[in-house]
Amino acid sequence: MTTTDLTIRGDRVVTPGGLRPAAVHVRDGVITAVTDRGGPAAGDVVDAGDHVVAPGLVDIHVHVNEPGRTEWEGFATATRAAAAGGVTTIIDMPLNSVPPTVTVDALTTKRQAADGQCHVDVGFWGGIVPGNAAHLAALHDAGVFGFKAFLVDSGVDEFDHVDGGHLEGAMERLATSDALTLVHAEAADVIAQSAAVLDEGDPRAYATYLASRPDDAEVRAVQQVAAIALRTGGRAHVLHLSSAEALTPLRHAARAGAALTAETCPHYLALAADDIADGATAFKCAPPIRAADNRDLLWTALGDGTIALIATDHSPCTPELKRRGDGSFAAAWGGIASLQLGLSVVWTHAQARGHVPTDLVHWMSAAPAQLVGLRRKGMLAPGADADIVIWDPDATWTVDAPALEHRHPVTPYDGMTLRGRVSTTYLRGQMIYDGHAVTGGPIGRLLDREV
Ligand SMILES: [Zn+2]
Repeated sequence: MTTTDLTIRGDRVVTPGGLRPAAVHVRDGVITAVTDRGGPAAGDVVDAGDHVVAPGLVDIHVHVNEPGRTEWEGFATATRAAAAGGVTTIIDMPLNSVPPTVTVDALTTKRQAADGQCHVDVGFWGGIVPGNAAHLAALHDAGVFGFKAFLVDSGVDEFDHVDGGHLEGAMERLATSDALTLVHAEAADVIAQSAAVLDEGDPRAYATYLASRPDDAEVRAVQQVAAIALRTGGRAHVLHLSSAEALTPLRHAARAGAALTAETCPHYLALAADDIADGATAFKCAPPIRAADNRDLLWTALGDGTIALIATDHSPCTPELKRRGDGSFAAAWGGIASLQLGLSVVWTHAQARGHVPTDLVHWMSAAPAQLVGLRRKGMLAPGADADIVIWDPDATWTVDAPALEHRHPVTPYDGMTLRGRVSTTYLRGQMIYDGHAVTGGPIGRLLDREV
């Protein structure tokens, strides 16, 4: 039980009603009131001036990789990166940890690994793999926020992908409990047909890798997931949408009444294929970063709500597996490390495209909290947890990868100048990042899905 009394005042407070001068009042880690800026203030009084005061980010797509691949990342380092990036809640993916989170026992193992290490709140996704159908209901009851499935090779042996029939069977089982199913939506047959280019082309050329994962793989998979969502009545969520061509089946699904949402990632909104140098494997992810005109269409889809939210898909590994030595896109691990940078990367480009802080808060805090049912997260309102990020929307700074908190100094953003910098992060009213360093102990909690 915390006892901090805290008032945070500012000119630009993102409230559920919009951006306005206001004061956020906190007691025992919970927001008790949001009042006019100039009213009475109790306890510690922080004046944020013209910095943005916003709910902490909720990143529903993070690969912590512990236990089992803790040399890639881990709960301590990932949650330190989160705190420094203004992220106060993460939901951990069921792979690339060993064991993967596909049974209740594996969830217990993961929770034991995380316990006492976390600087932000952490929830867990379960997984749908061949052979674990009988475990899904118990995993859901044990508190996972939903289930992830791959329609294509996942990249690790212990987390096999499923086909459409298997996915449909799982979603039928889960529909009665209104569980959320997350899908890595690339069609395995399209990827298989395209794989030959990796052998024929220059493995260091980004164009070779891009050609191996065409738009059509996403289009076909999104069509398939939409059809399954419609038939089963289950809730499905398309992870890391990269191809703007896949927006068409998403829009059709929405009109048809499917319970289908989608996310995209900072790298698809900020980066473009033509700018990726040969051998720059820090940029490798799946689905791939595509052309600049594709990126423009993703921004349009965020603006019109076709894409519901942004999540980082933070997925680090060791520098060796990223093939920094030979720069082989064919051989490198696919995954981008950006948990600490999501706010700044998205704001840099959102602001340049005419968006305002309330848009970022919607995409990165409110909408993800709502999708996963975290009713006390993602908003500055009475009754919510006092998870708060104060950030300077006008500050520019240059990313220095070794100075980031995640385990390995690998990120495609190294050396880039970004706009928007986190100045303070609070978790339940306790400061966890002071603008220079992570502060205090690992006070993050392990979250269960709220029922
Ligand atoms: Zn992922």
